[in-house]
Amino acid sequence: MAKQIQAIRGMHDILPEQSPHWHWLENQARQILAAYGYQEIRLPIVEKTELFKRSIGEVTDIVEKEMYSFDDRNGDSLTLRPEGTAGCLRACLEHGLLHNQSHRLWYYGPMFRHERPQKGRYRQFYQLGVETYGMPGPDVDAELIALTERLWRTLDIRDQVELQLNTLGTSEERLAYRGKLVDYFQQHLDLLDDDSRRRLDSNPLRILDSKNPDMQAILSQAPVLLDHLGDDSLAHFNQLTAMLDDLGIRYALNTRLVRGLDYYGKTVFEWVTDQLGSQGTICAGGRYDGLIEQLGGKANHAIGFAMGMERILALIEQSGHVALAPVTDAYLIRVGERAERVGLILAERLRNALPELKLQVNCGGGSFKSQFKKADKSGAAWAIIIGDDEAAHDSVALKSLRIEQEQQTLQHSELIRTLDAWLHDSTV
Ligand code: ATP
Ligand code: MG
Repeated sequence: MAKQIQAIRGMHDILPEQSPHWHWLENQARQILAAYGYQEIRLPIVEKTELFKRSIGEVTDIVEKEMYSFDDRNGDSLTLRPEGTAGCLRACLEHGLLHNQSHRLWYYGPMFRHERPQKGRYRQFYQLGVETYGMPGPDVDAELIALTERLWRTLDIRDQVELQLNTLGTSEERLAYRGKLVDYFQQHLDLLDDDSRRRLDSNPLRILDSKNPDMQAILSQAPVLLDHLGDDSLAHFNQLTAMLDDLGIRYALNTRLVRGLDYYGKTVFEWVTDQLGSQGTICAGGRYDGLIEQLGGKANHAIGFAMGMERILALIEQSGHVALAPVTDAYLIRVGERAERVGLILAERLRNALPELKLQVNCGGGSFKSQFKKADKSGAAWAIIIGDDEAAHDSVALKSLRIEQEQQTLQHSELIRTLDAWLHDSTV
């Protein structure tokens, strides 16, 4: 036998038994996004490498070591998108969506990062992202947080997650603070790990984000950006927290939350859980007004977030209840040549009359016994049975597979009425 080919490490199949969970999560999210007036934008999976280098920043984990980049046949360097913010903004600039307009957008799909695969960290993973343009906040900042909080409540995981909030001020404020931070770290150079020493010149704020337990003591004494903000940035932050208080949304101030990407300013936030081991951030975002000019647009406003669908699903499956609709309502058993013909026609008639009915027709023949086994396995509530007898009389036998109930013999039109009543009234 030929050797089987396996999937790429860190890239996973979503098998049919998992799909209903994904659909459920996706549908809840879509419904909430629609309720807040957000519109979907669909974007290419591949973009020019330059786009990510210029937006995410050269000195970030993503650009330094995680991108799937390759030269296409023309010699252009392309990259499988590691995130959606850059592509979304590129599209909106390209199509003139930022001219005197505001937009509330969302996108959904796979992202690619060459990371070390582990639980909650994959090389292909799904993000649902939201981006808004043209609104200076902090009202829309609060709206984004309220929207995500509503989703956690809907998914019944609100108790498992905590909102961490910080502000990064303006780029001028960050620059001044950066100097103080570098001074501080210079005085404690011997306590920094290699990664942090390397970042001291290139991206010192990112050091604050280090998870290295040996560095926590020195980090906890580091100067705090919040103490070095101007009036405008402080007002933005204070108004945001007041709005969250009005909405009854609890948050924890985390002055070391910096989000790693160069383009963030003012509001940044993460939803974090302690139930998923070290991959505990299920949703992260922030304001990135500065990125628009960086990508060649006119000064404008933007704030967004992205959530990791695998981590959210893991949390739901671990702790919440997933309200899944059954895959099959009814299973049509056909034994005999005539029954097969009559059954095929009846199935289409049922689908005409009852578009919501999930009907599986037995294909590939088999005895009553083996077809019943398959019916049971399908999870269907009903078996519709046609043998020679029923085929000759345009009737069916209807048997409940879930509750004790006498089997009934019905004409085709009676069957439609019975299933119709069952679909629309759960007491039948
Ligand atoms: P992390 O600190 O976990 O590496 P990040 O800061 O790189 O996260 P973002 O770029 O902010 O992540 O992406 C937003 C969300 O997407 C994360 O909070 C997480 O839920 C999810 N995510 C990011 N990278 C991965 C991955 N490799 N596998 C699965 N989910 C991921
Ligand atoms: Mg990462």
